[in-house]
Amino acid sequence: MSELVVDDLVAGYGDARVLHGVRFTVKQGEVCAILGPNGAGKTTLLRALSGMVRTRGTVTLGGTELSGRSPDTIARLGVAHVPEGRGTFMPLTVEDNLRLGAFVRRGRAEVDSDLDRIYTYFPVLKTRLKQAAGSLSGGEQQMLAIGRALMLRPRLLLLDEPSLGLAPLVTRELFRIVQAINAEEQTTVVVVEQNAHLALGIAQQAHVLETGRIVLSGTAEEIRADEQVAQSYLGYR
Ligand code: ATP
Repeated sequence: MSELVVDDLVAGYGDARVLHGVRFTVKQGEVCAILGPNGAGKTTLLRALSGMVRTRGTVTLGGTELSGRSPDTIARLGVAHVPEGRGTFMPLTVEDNLRLGAFVRRGRAEVDSDLDRIYTYFPVLKTRLKQAAGSLSGGEQQMLAIGRALMLRPRLLLLDEPSLGLAPLVTRELFRIVQAINAEEQTTVVVVEQNAHLALGIAQQAHVLETGRIVLSGTAEEIRADEQVAQSYLGYR
């Protein structure tokens, strides 16, 4: 089981507190969208979940406590974080980037079969294996970043603004693949996304974060139907 339970999460940078007691649950195998204005703390929330900022409160995944652990330990417990800006190693080849994603695992045969699995989701990566990651298009780099995260065989996938800088067609394709990954691997997903239409299209639950607090929670349908959300994030009404 990999239900994510976040309870009274407080996080920030130095003395500046950014998250003020965030509380939500994502059921095993569900997609949860985090919406909110710039500076609300969405990126900080993902960083807090993957151990990259210091936190108070509790975070558990499938009953195992993540809070207070190092990013490395959290990764080994099955949390893969695809940061905004993707975090691929530009000078390294596509293949090396993907293999690095399996850093917590051993067994070449197993890693090779996982690479094949990644290519079924992202066939374009197979045609670019020996190419430097830095020479890929923006969409291909985002696919590589997600592919690399999948090499961890994550129980929880954290995606920060996957659509950033991508053309609408590429973004739709990327979200279709994320949905397929979620369906086929039963990976729990938390996605932070400016494109609320797309995020709500693949999410079961969504939360709106404002100045470090969740101000609205509900099913994707409920959030989509909310007047305020429609005005602020969906661009109509
Ligand atoms: P955006 O949509 O613009 O990316 P966000 O909702 O993801 O915004 P965060 O990036 O989490 O918001 O930032 C929340 C607050 O924390 C902001 O006020 C920001 O200035 C501050 N902040 C972010 N990173 C740092 C840092 N490394 N050091 C100090 N303050 C930071």
